[in-house]
Amino acid sequence: MAVAFIALGSNLSDRVAMLAAALAELSLDARVCLRVVSHVYGSEPWGVADQPSFANAAVALEFAGGPEDLLQLCRAVERRLGRAEGPRNGPRSIDLDILLFDSLVIDTPQLTLPHPRMRDRDFVVTPLLEIEPTLMMPDGRKLESSEATSGRITGVLGVIPGLDSLTPDAPRL
Ligand code: ADP
Ligand code: MG
Repeated sequence: MAVAFIALGSNLSDRVAMLAAALAELSLDARVCLRVVSHVYGSEPWGVADQPSFANAAVALEFAGGPEDLLQLCRAVERRLGRAEGPRNGPRSIDLDILLFDSLVIDTPQLTLPHPRMRDRDFVVTPLLEIEPTLMMPDGRKLESSEATSGRITGVLGVIPGLDSLTPDAPRL
């Protein structure tokens, strides 16, 4: 069984409900077992500046399949939740990015692991360190919040409804 970390983001419609629906859809797949779910964080608009702010979270899950299978599942969940085509880094109802898959290093046109820009982004690093405070990258370096200088977190929005039993007690803000 592989362990994967996924970053979730939404900045359209009911953002927290979108994150909850994405996790519910993921856990409906028989290959998925959710392990730890972060609090939901608010973060400043990122990439395209003139758009609503984001809600972000991270999840650790066990997955009985390969990394490409998990990518396919993430894309299917995005489509089911009505994610429309749009500009890269523009507004989206749901975005699921695979951050890490065991300690695999992959660079293909479809899939790059670890996610290439994860270390820079506060909205990725902060939820990830909440669920795995001593996270090691495949290169053996510890993930450090001090390196995350873009996409700043602005506050904690709460826990994902129904998943509070998988959420750590206190967010790390
Ligand atoms: P972004 O998340 O960068 O804003 P998209 O969500 O539209 O953009 O994803 C674009 C493509 O990125 C996906 O079709 C997928 O094939 C590719 N991709 C590469 N590496 C990853 C990864 N680690 N996790 C998710 N998608 C990835
Ligand atoms: Mg994406």
